[in-house]
Amino acid sequence: MSESKDRGTFKVPLELRVHGRGGQGGVTLAKLIATLYSRLGLQVQTFGDYGSERAGAPIRAYTRVDDKRITNRNKVYNPDHLIVLDPGLMSPAVLDGVAPGALLLINTTEEGAAVAKRYPSLRVGVIDATSIARKHGIGTASVVIINTTLVGAYARLLELPTEVIADAYEKVGLSGDLGAAEEAYGAVEIFEPTKAPEGASKAGGDYVLGRFPEILPLTEHITERFAPVCTGDWRTQTPHYLFHEAPCNGECPAGNDVVGFIQTLKADGADAAARHLSATQPLPSVCGRVCPAPCMGGCSRRLYDGSVNIRGLERWIGDNGDSPPPKKDENKNPKRIAIIGGGPAGLSAAFEAARAGHSVTIYEAAEGFGGVLRYGIPEYRLPNDILDREIRRIEALGVNFIPATAVDSEKIVALSKENDAVVIAVGLGRLADLGFGDLSGVEQGIAFLRAVKSGERMSLAGEEVAVAGGGNTAVDCARTALRLGAEKVTLLYRRGREEMPAIDDEVSDAVEEGVRLELYSQPVGAKGEGAISALEVAEVELFDYDESGRRRPVVTDRKRVIPCTRLFMALGQSPEEGLLPDGWSVDGDRVINGVESLNVWLAGDISTGAGTVAHAIGDGRRVAALALKGGARKEENPKVSSEGVRADFFEERPPMAEKHLPVTERITSFIEVSEGIAGPEEAERCFSCGTCTACDTCLFSCPEGVISREGESYKIDGEFCKGCGICVAECPRMAMDMSALEAGRQ
Ligand code: FAD
Repeated sequence: MSESKDRGTFKVPLELRVHGRGGQGGVTLAKLIATLYSRLGLQVQTFGDYGSERAGAPIRAYTRVDDKRITNRNKVYNPDHLIVLDPGLMSPAVLDGVAPGALLLINTTEEGAAVAKRYPSLRVGVIDATSIARKHGIGTASVVIINTTLVGAYARLLELPTEVIADAYEKVGLSGDLGAAEEAYGAVEIFEPTKAPEGASKAGGDYVLGRFPEILPLTEHITERFAPVCTGDWRTQTPHYLFHEAPCNGECPAGNDVVGFIQTLKADGADAAARHLSATQPLPSVCGRVCPAPCMGGCSRRLYDGSVNIRGLERWIGDNGDSPPPKKDENKNPKRIAIIGGGPAGLSAAFEAARAGHSVTIYEAAEGFGGVLRYGIPEYRLPNDILDREIRRIEALGVNFIPATAVDSEKIVALSKENDAVVIAVGLGRLADLGFGDLSGVEQGIAFLRAVKSGERMSLAGEEVAVAGGGNTAVDCARTALRLGAEKVTLLYRRGREEMPAIDDEVSDAVEEGVRLELYSQPVGAKGEGAISALEVAEVELFDYDESGRRRPVVTDRKRVIPCTRLFMALGQSPEEGLLPDGWSVDGDRVINGVESLNVWLAGDISTGAGTVAHAIGDGRRVAALALKGGARKEENPKVSSEGVRADFFEERPPMAEKHLPVTERITSFIEVSEGIAGPEEAERCFSCGTCTACDTCLFSCPEGVISREGESYKIDGEFCKGCGICVAECPRMAMDMSALEAGRQ
C-alpha cells in the first residue's frame, strides 16, 4: 500500500467507480477524471467494463489514482468515489462495497436534500448534468452526452480550481465543453454525511429501498402476467413530441403563424386557412402583395431549393379564402380606445382592440383610410379595391371610422381623458429635402405618388426624370414616372445596389421596365431658369460602417451634369414635430408627462421607424393589446435550429414563381404587375418545421417498435422505450425532443 497523501479534499490512493448506461459517455468520464489526476502529477489507471454494447444497457468504468506505480489490475470493488450517471440505476448492487464516508456524485433532476437523505453516511453531490449539457448543446439533439459536464461537479467536490479542468480539457481537445463543466461546478449541491461512519470498513453502503419491488418469498409466484424485461428502465432520457417555433414564424413582424396557415391550407383549403390567418393578420391580401417577406429569408428551404413562396400563399389565401370577419370575444369589461391615424398600424390596433370586445374609434386626417397603402404604394402594386375589401372586414367588427379629421395636441389631451387608452399611429410626416430652392419640377416623391394614387393622371411625356433615393418611395416614383410617359427615368442612389432599402424584387422590376440605376451618385445642385433643366451629380465613395450598419457615404468633388426636367426627392421620412402637447414626451412606446406614464401610446412607423407594412401591423396589434390589458407577453417556444431540419428527407422542387405582366403592358398602364401564384400547390413545399404532420417517420424508425399511432398523434410505450433517441434524430422537421427524466422515472 502506498502512503496516503493529502491533495485538496481527497487522498491517494483512491479508487473510483462510474455507473452509467451505454451512450452516456461513462467510460470517457472515467478517462477524463484520470486525465484530471494525471495533470496533477499522479499515476492513473482507467478502463471500462461493458455488458451488452447497446444504448441504454448498464455499464461500469473504473479509475485508480496513486502517487506510485499502480499494479492492481482488478475491477474496483470498494470505491472511495462513486459516480452515478442515471438515478434509475441506483440499487444495492451499485452501492456494493461503498464504505461510510465515501463520496457519491449523482446526476438527477431530483431535489438534492431528498437524495442526500437516502445516503446519510456518504458525502453526496447532486447535479442535473443532463439539463446543463443539453443547454450547452453537448451531444446531439437526440442523445445528450453528460460526461464533460459531470467532471465540473466532481472537481468541485474535490475543491479543485476550475483551471485544472480547463487544463485537462485543453489537453484532450474538449475546451468547447468547459462552459458546461464550469456551470456544473457552480451548480452542484453538496451534502456532508449526517451519520458518523461506524468503523471505516468498505463493507457496503446504506442504500435505502425506494422504488424497487419487494422481494417475495420463494413460495409466492406471480402467475397472471408474464413479467418481461422492461427495457424502459434503461432509459436516461425520454423522447416526446414538442412544438418548435419555425424560423419563418419567428421572422414574421406581423406575428403570423406561417407554418400554421400553410398547413391549414394544405389540409383544409383556402377558407380554413383564411380563418387561421385572420387570427393575426387583418390585411392578408395587402401583405401578400407588398411585404418584403422576411419570413422567406428564414425559410428552411432557402438554401436547399429556394424558399417557399410564403408571400404568394398569403396573397392566394387573402384573395381566395372566404373568411367572415373574425369573431369578437365576449368582453365583460369593455374599454374605450381612440386610435389616431388609419394606416396599417392604426387599422391593426383597431382590429386587435375590436376583436377583444372593446369600443374603438379611429381618427384619420385623410378622406380615405389605409395611410401609405392608399396614398403611397402605386395601384400597379396594390389596387385600392383590395385595400377597401380588407378595411371593410375591420369595419364589420364595429370600429367607428372618422375620416378627414386631423387630430392636434389639444384633441389628444381631450381623447386621453375620454378614453381608457389612446394609440397614436400617424406614421412619418416630415420629409427630407435637398435644399435646391423652389425651382419648379423639383418635387417631393411622396406628394407625386399621393397625387397619382388619388387619380391625377398628369403626363410626363418627353420628360427626363431623375429620382433621388434608394427606398421604396424612390423606386415607386421611378416606375410611376415611366407609366406617365417619361422619356428617360434615372434613379440616383448614393450607395450600391445591395444597400438599397427598397424591396429587391421591386428594384429588379424597375430595371426590367427601363429605369436606369446610377449608383454611388448624389444630386448636389440643380440648374434652370424658374424650372429645373439639369442636375449636378457628384460621385460618392463609401468608407467605414456607420451606426446603421451600412458603409458611410462621402460625396467627392468628381461631378457631372445630367439633363433633368423633373426631380423627385425620396430621401427618407421622420416623425412630424409638435403633435404632442407641451411637457409630454415619449418613453419607448409610451407617452409620459414628467415621470407619469399616460394612457397614450405610439405605434407603427412613428414609434419603430421600421418602415414596413408587416412591422406596422405587428406593432399596432401589440401596442393595442398592451394599452388595454397592461401587457400580455407572447409565450416563448423552443426554436427550430438550422441543423434540426433534415432537408434531404424532402424531394427537391423549385418554388412557384409569381406571374408578371409583360413589360410592354406594364409601362403603359397601372394594371397590377404581379398576378400572384397560380394556385395553392406551393403549400406542399412547406417542411412544416417544428410541427408534427403525423408523417410516421418516428414510428418507422423506432428500432424497438414501441411507437404506435393514435389518430393524428403517437404514443410511446414508456415501459419499453430505451431512450435511444433515434426517433428524435430521424424526425425530419424537429417536432420531437429528448428531455431529462423526471425524478421517479415514468
Ligand atoms: P402610415 O401608413 O403613414 O399611416 C399613418 C396615417 O396617419 C395616415 O393615414 C395619415 O394620414 C394619418 N395621420 C397623420 N397625421 C394625423 C393626424 N394628426 N390625425 C389623424 N390622422 C393622421 N412597406 C412595405 O412593407 N412594403 C412596401 O412595398 C412598401 N412600399 C412603400 C412605398 C412608399 C411610397 C412608402 C412611403 C412606404 C412604403 N412602405 C412599404 C412602408 C410602409 O408603407 C410603412 O412602413 C407603413 O405604411 C407604416 O404604417 P403606419 O400606420 O405607421 O403609417
